[in-house]
Amino acid sequence: MGFPPWSCDPLLHRGGEAEALPFGRTRGFKPRVRYNLIGISDPMGTLLSVVVPKNAGKAFMVKKGQRIRVTGRSVVDFVAFNLNDLTERFDQARTKTNQAKVYISTGDQLISKLNNPMLTIVEDSFKEGRHDLQKGMCSRKRFELVAKGLAKRVFAEGIDPNPKKPEEIPDHGCWENLQEVLEPWNIDPRDIPSPFNIFQTMRIDQDTGKMFDTFIRPSDEDHVDFRAEMDCLVALSACPESGRGQAVKVEVFEDRDGGVPEER
Ligand SMILES: [Zn+2]
Repeated sequence: MGFPPWSCDPLLHRGGEAEALPFGRTRGFKPRVRYNLIGISDPMGTLLSVVVPKNAGKAFMVKKGQRIRVTGRSVVDFVAFNLNDLTERFDQARTKTNQAKVYISTGDQLISKLNNPMLTIVEDSFKEGRHDLQKGMCSRKRFELVAKGLAKRVFAEGIDPNPKKPEEIPDHGCWENLQEVLEPWNIDPRDIPSPFNIFQTMRIDQDTGKMFDTFIRPSDEDHVDFRAEMDCLVALSACPESGRGQAVKVEVFEDRDGGVPEER
């Protein structure tokens, strides 16, 4: 079973044929890939398989029950919207509060502002560190504020990798990537929620509340699988990580085993 017509990505769908598909940013660098999307799935049930270059974004739709796999070695900023009501969005606070934890992994859910489960993490191979639910996302402005000392970004390892010279500062970040890929759905940039930051391990001092970035990332490729609990518009950005970011792979599958994962 492939993607039904309603779920065609307006960026990607032209006439229902497999074709050259633009993804990522359309300014600056713009790699293109070719894959089959409409009504076609391979024997593994793959509906979508795409590599998102470093500091680029991707938006796509999933139907309830389908599975999303994000594979990579660097940070991925991940957001979701209710496809049937795009004003209902992923919410960091609900996700933490409703599950009484600041880290989520297998068996946990991404919760919307309206307290509805959007996605369940059904598999998580990242064991070296944690995923983040505290931070927002990088952007040109954020890079500039850090470079000028007007915003903080401190690493637990005591190293300061933040770009300082204007020519070293990326001209865009996850904020701009997500804006661009969500534009076809008329998502106002101000309505993009703070993300679930996959593979972003933070250190939080439990007494002072001070928050530290770390260099802890998957030592080899790791993946996180999500099962859609509602029809979702999903968008993600392969974070530039001030130059250290890498491309990430995104796949969508028909869910074959279903059910609630046993591990929690
Ligand atoms: Zn970023």
